[in-house]
Amino acid sequence: MEKIWLSSPHMSGKEVLYATDAIESNWVAPLGPYVNKMERMISEKIGVNDTALLSSGTAAIHLALRLLHITQEDFVFCQSLTFSASANPIIYENATPVFIDSEVETWNMCPEALETALKKHQKIGKLPKAIIVVHLYGMPAKMDEIISLAERYGIPIIEDAAEAIGSKYKTDYCGSFGAFGILSFNGNKLITTSGGGALLSNNQAAIVKSRFLASQAKDPAPHYEHSELGFNYRMSNVSAAIGCAQLEVLEERIKARRANFEFYKNELSDFSFLKFQKEPKHSFSNRWLSCVLFEKGNTPETTRLYLEKHNIETRPLWKPMHLQPIYKSFSFFGSGISEDLFYRGLCLPSGSNLSIEEKVRTVDLIKKSFSN
Ligand SMILES: *Cc1c(COP(=O)(O)O)cnc(C)c1O
Repeated sequence: MEKIWLSSPHMSGKEVLYATDAIESNWVAPLGPYVNKMERMISEKIGVNDTALLSSGTAAIHLALRLLHITQEDFVFCQSLTFSASANPIIYENATPVFIDSEVETWNMCPEALETALKKHQKIGKLPKAIIVVHLYGMPAKMDEIISLAERYGIPIIEDAAEAIGSKYKTDYCGSFGAFGILSFNGNKLITTSGGGALLSNNQAAIVKSRFLASQAKDPAPHYEHSELGFNYRMSNVSAAIGCAQLEVLEERIKARRANFEFYKNELSDFSFLKFQKEPKHSFSNRWLSCVLFEKGNTPETTRLYLEKHNIETRPLWKPMHLQPIYKSFSFFGSGISEDLFYRGLCLPSGSNLSIEEKVRTVDLIKKSFSN
């Protein structure tokens, strides 16, 4: 049986055309017309003033921290339940991460835990310089509550929307709320450039600056002159050509991902110990990954191993950062929600290119794993 992946790239058919055009026109460089075009497409879609295309989502978070002048004296609050790339750039800047627990509804940053952490850090005179909020698996975080706290304490938000392209909170797209938003176009994401990311903001001057920093911070001079530390973080025009083709089918891809979720939820509705995450009334999730929680003494590991044996890839929910060996010495504010989610959750095959046969095969084997 052919392998069923958790989330694999899904071509639209136009990628070859656009990438060939990029190559034939000799725009094979980390700049060019497709980079400009894709930047405009993202700004228009997400509703921000400007976007810089970068080599990865991780690079985008790193540049956001640079643009907010985070240094080794600073603290940065970060959602604990996330992929490590949300937090790693804090360490690149030798700043100190403080991890914040999740709430049970969206699995994202818990406003109560955030408030506790802010109060405590205000008391010791060490308020954070930024708050990194994640929309995990495409589900929007509780932005109203988080924004109101961030505003009360005067702290900018970096919105990690790497998994949430096209997701909406109330009337606005994820990635448009923070001082900076970031997207990822890694191979496993909802749309891909094979590898890449974007930094989004309504502060156009900051995005112009990010392009400067991302292309080695070359001062205007005939020779190479540098008065600031630069990075080689720009996206290639060939990658952006692939990205333009992918963005054209974004809405179809979201529909397919959401249909996967509905399929799993319906097909597994007889098993009362399985819980699927509800979409809050005011939120629209792209359902990048379909995840399920196991209740009442049932654990996902038996199912995961059983599916693995049958060549189907599933994965536990992301392991919280405050439990990771590299991060466990840093502070954490919370009450064990993210840890509980980690032990109880399983991400199911979620690609927009899954066939109905593949989904049926997956569901049949999940059911069999319970009787084994
Ligand atoms: C994928 C991902 C990133 C990193 O994006 P890359 O483009 O792979 O560097 C950051 N945060 C989250 C939540 C992600 O899922």
